[in-house]
Amino acid sequence: MALFGDGTRCVHGGHPEPAGGTPLLPGPVFAAPYHLGADGDFYGRAGNPTWRALESAIGDLDGGHCVLLPSGMAATSTLLRAVLRVGDALVLPSDGYYATRQLVHDELAELRLDVREIPTPGPWDDGVFDGVRLVLLETPSNPGLDVCDIAALAERAHAAGALLAVDNTTATPLGQRPLELGADIVIASDTKALSGHSDLLMGHVSVRDADLAERLVRARTLSGAIPGPFETWLVHRSLGTLDLRLSRQADNAAALVAALRDHPAVRGLRWPGTPDDPAHDLARRQMRRWGGVFRFELADAAAVEEFVRRSRLVVAATSFGGLHSTVDRRAQWGDPVPEGFVRFSAGCEDSEDLVADVLQALG
Ligand SMILES: *Cc1c(COP(=O)(O)O)cnc(C)c1O
Repeated sequence: MALFGDGTRCVHGGHPEPAGGTPLLPGPVFAAPYHLGADGDFYGRAGNPTWRALESAIGDLDGGHCVLLPSGMAATSTLLRAVLRVGDALVLPSDGYYATRQLVHDELAELRLDVREIPTPGPWDDGVFDGVRLVLLETPSNPGLDVCDIAALAERAHAAGALLAVDNTTATPLGQRPLELGADIVIASDTKALSGHSDLLMGHVSVRDADLAERLVRARTLSGAIPGPFETWLVHRSLGTLDLRLSRQADNAAALVAALRDHPAVRGLRWPGTPDDPAHDLARRQMRRWGGVFRFELADAAAVEEFVRRSRLVVAATSFGGLHSTVDRRAQWGDPVPEGFVRFSAGCEDSEDLVADVLQALG
């Protein structure tokens, strides 16, 4: 698939070669046990053709071996448990997805990790990677939409003997290919834009090293935390329109950012896709295209509530990347941001409708 463009790869990725009399698209395979005898699958916790079809499509886009897991946090926790040993040092974004920090401090407390939390835009001081086993970056970061230099940090992490992983949820593999920029590992929540319909949870880890992929598959089989075949099939179905959805979402984000830039009620507007954003030049160098998520601040929590009440198209929901425009006031989840800070996820509505609705809702 690598010779084709993004839209083609999304539409055709992971689907079987045409063969007369077989279904154009295979449906989900629900089997728990399989008939024994051949070399194929034997039990649904260890292997499933519906997983492999989607893993082939996503792995092709990421440029690595993809291991599907039932949520983004399942991807993160499976990776951390597979790679980290007692007493290891780990670098995490202080401004990234909050549950990753909770996981490390609460669930993985028994590992007594040396956790170094660094904001995505840095500073990345000399020696930050000394003695580190794993560096996890998140760029663009959720919810702040800050950006760090994957290639430069991968080089420094490797020089220090560390593995470099990137949480690529916000960008999706169409927006950014961390493995091509030097990262060893990509993790992602496919609950967000990759599946994009706000009706399921899914995640994956993609890696360059086949042995690490094997270890992750084994961890999935033995932990028992496996994706459901039906959800997997829905993600594969949704992946077909990722290119189209992202285009509309990015167009809508661009239109909204332009409309809100000089709005008196709006402060702290950030979207890496706009040339006046402080992260734009770096994002442009390493990203392939933009997505629909941006952020801004209103005066306080009440102003956000009033905005949602007055809007006919934007609802409050704590996810992003879906067909429907949503807004999330992040302070309510404990993110270290002001009370009126919102992450806005532009959906696939018509731009004119969305801009008009958001402007009237802001009053
Ligand atoms: C949502 C999210 C996750 C967690 O994914 P789930 O599918 O909800 O488990 C991890 N990282 C980022 C950046 C996210 O936005």
